[in-house]
Amino acid sequence: TRALRRRFVTRKPLFGPPVEVRAVDGIDLRVRRGETFAIVGESGCGKSTLARMLVRLIDPSEGAIRFENRDITRLEGAELREMRRHLQFIFQDPFASLNPRMTVGALLEEPLRAHGIGTPEERRARVAELLGRVGLLPQHASRYPHEFSGGQRQRIGIARALAVSPKVLIGDEPVSALDVSIQAQVVNLLQDLKEEFALTLIIIAHDLAVIRHMADRVGVMYLGQLVEVAPADQLFTRPRHPYTEALLSAIPVPRVGAKRAARALEGDPPNPIDPPSGCRFHPRCPYATELCRTTVPELAIGADGASVACHRAQELTLEGLAAEGGGR
Ligand code: SF4
Ligand code: MG
Repeated sequence: TRALRRRFVTRKPLFGPPVEVRAVDGIDLRVRRGETFAIVGESGCGKSTLARMLVRLIDPSEGAIRFENRDITRLEGAELREMRRHLQFIFQDPFASLNPRMTVGALLEEPLRAHGIGTPEERRARVAELLGRVGLLPQHASRYPHEFSGGQRQRIGIARALAVSPKVLIGDEPVSALDVSIQAQVVNLLQDLKEEFALTLIIIAHDLAVIRHMADRVGVMYLGQLVEVAPADQLFTRPRHPYTEALLSAIPVPRVGAKRAARALEGDPPNPIDPPSGCRFHPRCPYATELCRTTVPELAIGADGASVACHRAQELTLEGLAAEGGGR
């Protein structure tokens, strides 16, 4: 079914002076209700900016963001608050922006109070319930953030986001600050909560391995633009865009043509203030042609359901298949 009930579309937002950085430049994206959609790319590609725009922590300078068929781009006041209740954000370090002198109980109660939910007793009960849901204990409510490990803090951050019963959770690198052993636990927790509360998850990551077992679909960003959007299993086994292929070369997954682009990501990405002409990936792309240097490739939907912004995507996929058939 095409359950496009939840729809985010942003078009060509730019940031104004002093420096015009096209952090997110012409993203057009739909997230389906109940799916886990991952946005991946190197640091500085604009994925955090995009995530913050979706919840209006940053306003797009152009374009529109729609949620449940409603344009939320310019909501203010009470309407903005109500919308935010449904779209909750999980930060990489949830306590970096929170008051370290508040107890965990007070931190979890705060969003409930802000939205006028429940009596004081009901809110206390809800806090205890939330702590249980994320694998912590009721007595943790009287402790302070610094008394917890990184993994526990992220559980508290998730509980805080869940407090107001949102429909969408947006996590900006929610596990990348954690030890690898803890990452899997938090990823599993997010998966369980997603099922239990029928959430839509949008996860931002620079590490494809993190979202591999989690995402239903993946959007790959490069210098402020989406270069590929595909179902996760397809993206991991048969990447269509040369940049996706290069990103994947860092993790051990069997796939077509893996060796070809492995070296493409040496060095830093170009400066987003002055992005390359044509295809922004062309200075690092092993397949670049003259057309790539002059003409911007559009994100186009292919027969296999993946959307790819590459002039040579079709031809390279066929080559990859031929190489695989040849037993390389
Ligand atoms: Fe490489 Fe050209 Fe495709 Fe860009 S459009 S990814 S430069 S082949
Ligand atoms: Mg970031």
